Amino acid sequence: MKIRDVHFLTSSPRPSLFPDHGLPEFAFLGRSNVGKSSLINMLMNRHDLVKTGSRPGMTQTVNFFVLNDAISIADLPGYGYAKVPMEIRKGFLPLIKSYIQKRGNLRLVFFLVDIRRTPDDRERELLSLITRQRIPVVLTVTKSDKVPPGRRRDRLRAIAESLDVDAGALFLTSALKGTGKRELLGLIREFADGERPGP
Ligand code: GDP
Repeated sequence: MKIRDVHFLTSSPRPSLFPDHGLPEFAFLGRSNVGKSSLINMLMNRHDLVKTGSRPGMTQTVNFFVLNDAISIADLPGYGYAKVPMEIRKGFLPLIKSYIQKRGNLRLVFFLVDIRRTPDDRERELLSLITRQRIPVVLTVTKSDKVPPGRRRDRLRAIAESLDVDAGALFLTSALKGTGKRELLGLIREFADGERPGP
């Protein structure tokens, strides 16, 4: 898919402020520092669309972008950042959960996992929330370049096992090397053209 234009639309701190444009939407979700901003920038051919390496602030928002005037991209807040006080950290998940439960135009969730980390209970809980809603998920393994090729297979197996899926279901990406770009953009186009499966 050719990226003709991509622009920031709005930042929404609560569901009532999510934009009501009805465009097919693609969400990116993962723990803080998973490489979400870098991946979105890589896919959109931009270095600076989403600020990378930034520490999460105290205000958690869903950031919306519009691609080619036809596709919506939702950047969900990175969860699990240890240095954010617990009281504020607790606020992230309700926002993410209500997004997943209420967003009728959501076509696909890119669920990001760092190749060096094995998902924990919270990630499993979030993933099962998404699959219970029958929203298609792409299990996206980030930063593949951080692990030598000979060790990647073991990491994929460990991640797959912890999420109770087949290792073949994982998509390997690297924002640094551009790995997975064509495949992920292909999925966005395919799911933007299709209908969301009914409940
Ligand atoms: P976010 O918090 O999930 O948005 O993560 P960022 O995109 O800000 O990335 C966190 C850190 O990981 C930054 O220092 C990035 O430069 C680095 N990073 C992200 N993606 C990659 C990747 O594919 N390869 C490598 N080597 N580093 C990456």
